[in-house]
Amino acid sequence: MQSVALLMRACQRCTACLLHHQPWRFLVTGISEVDLPRITVPHKMQSRLQKIRQRQRQDQPTIKKSVFKSPLVISCKRGNFNHHRGQTYNDFGPQALASYGWKSRKSAGDYFTVVCHDKNPALASEESAKRFEDLHLDESLVKAVHSMGLVVPTNIQKSGTPAILSGGSTLCAAETGSGKTLAYLLPVLTMLLQRRTLRGEEEAVNSPSVIILTPSRELADQIMRVVETLQQHVDFTAYSVCGGRGTKGRLAWPVRRPMDILVATPGVLRKLLIAGQIKPSGLQHIILDEADTLLDDSFMDSIDRVLSRLKIPTLDSGVSGGRVVSPGGLDTSDTGFIGGVQFVLVSATVPRALPDSIGAYLPVDALQQVTSPGLHRLMPHVPQKFMRLLPSQKSPELVKLVRSEVEKKAGSMMIFCNSSSTCFYLGHLLEEHSLPAALINGDMTEKSRQGVFERFQEGRHDILVATDIASRGLDTINVRHVVNYDFPNFVSDYLHRAGRVGRVGSHTSGLVTSFVTHKWEVDLLWQIEISVRKSADLHNVNANIKRKISAEYAKRHGTTLDAL
Ligand code: AMP
Repeated sequence: MQSVALLMRACQRCTACLLHHQPWRFLVTGISEVDLPRITVPHKMQSRLQKIRQRQRQDQPTIKKSVFKSPLVISCKRGNFNHHRGQTYNDFGPQALASYGWKSRKSAGDYFTVVCHDKNPALASEESAKRFEDLHLDESLVKAVHSMGLVVPTNIQKSGTPAILSGGSTLCAAETGSGKTLAYLLPVLTMLLQRRTLRGEEEAVNSPSVIILTPSRELADQIMRVVETLQQHVDFTAYSVCGGRGTKGRLAWPVRRPMDILVATPGVLRKLLIAGQIKPSGLQHIILDEADTLLDDSFMDSIDRVLSRLKIPTLDSGVSGGRVVSPGGLDTSDTGFIGGVQFVLVSATVPRALPDSIGAYLPVDALQQVTSPGLHRLMPHVPQKFMRLLPSQKSPELVKLVRSEVEKKAGSMMIFCNSSSTCFYLGHLLEEHSLPAALINGDMTEKSRQGVFERFQEGRHDILVATDIASRGLDTINVRHVVNYDFPNFVSDYLHRAGRVGRVGSHTSGLVTSFVTHKWEVDLLWQIEISVRKSADLHNVNANIKRKISAEYAKRHGTTLDAL
């Protein structure tokens, strides 16, 4: 009883526990229940609580726990958002998305993964597999690809080769890493070898038959490496020239030799054309590798200037180097000889924007579109994880991720960010944690950028931190993990970055991890998630190139193409 009295004394000092000691009080003092003090919750607080409860009920996912037996396509931290192959939704609304609440900071810590749910769409199925021998390519080229260890052409090589061999201007759009370089090089070289005898040696001096334009020196170097491999078996000449500092010096570049192929970035090519070092008279094929980048705002002006310097016959000029160009722009004979200039646009996405200039040069009527069904979709054969983080969590999470990859020695890693300053910052951050990384961004001097990618490809660097400059076209078959430290601004950037893994010929299966930290990044993520859940194409990647060119042509020439 003494201890009860002690307890009571202690308790009475505390108003908050009145409710708790009431039974004691009743027991010890015998005060009736009627005398007990009442605690009333203020009305305002009650209604606030009610509202919170209501909101919590609404936020509860409307979809029931999945009972699907088909393979998993999206695996979520909150299992009730999982998505299975073939799963459909009666009433597909934003609330069906795992990332629905990700605009709120409270969602930090949530994640979901689009798991590997199909095979690489770039690879031809066993039944439909054609051989390189069946593609009407020059025999020496077939031998060359065999010596590279390639046996079966990829889908884009199978469908792109006949289209390009027909001589028509062609858009080849297929997934990243699907073998597009050979898809255009093999048919173009076949035509070049067939025409060889038609050009005198003096005529060919500094006058390339084929110009390949690329957005970056790294891609130009990579194309040259494929070209050089083919040169070991086939007799043709190829040169490469890229921009950057020292271009002036390079204007004393004329090789004064017959030139079959020139690989160049647009800026330096324009300078060489202005200086008269390159003669455009022998041009037969112009290839825009990574056409979506070359035709967007960043390169539009350069490309326009190059094309006007190249004096490519426009559709209305009707004249090409003394040859009459048919309204379709092309004169295709059995030998594949072309009357005008054949455009080949090569891209991993159908270009989202076209410059004002291109419509005046491209023989739109002859533009054949060779596209792959897997285009503008997430790669089904590569797991892609999306993590909702707070901005302050990004750096530690990255260090953790990089460290675990380095410890596993699983393969090399590419980390993408949206600006050069972040790229430099991440370089320092990783260095501080004894995780040295190579960098590539547009603000680096040409000298410091030179050879970085090549060394990364050779495995001399394990980690590469880069801006989108390194997301286009570069062949990265040793890369195992792509990390989007900054979530990309455009869906095409996402596809290009993710495409650094899961490439044809890759040694590892690959993985993509994306950090999502800001409200404005979530809209793009919703687009991606919806496209996977609905097995539909991603929006805003697919610009109708033909319609756009036609409209531009009509604007410039006051007549529609149909009227030609
Ligand atoms: P690309 O898309 O041209 O950058 O090529 C991506 C990778 O696919 C390169 O490493 C090529 O060597 C490889 N590749 C190209 N064609 C084939 C093929 N037919 N079979 C296997 N690998 C290929």
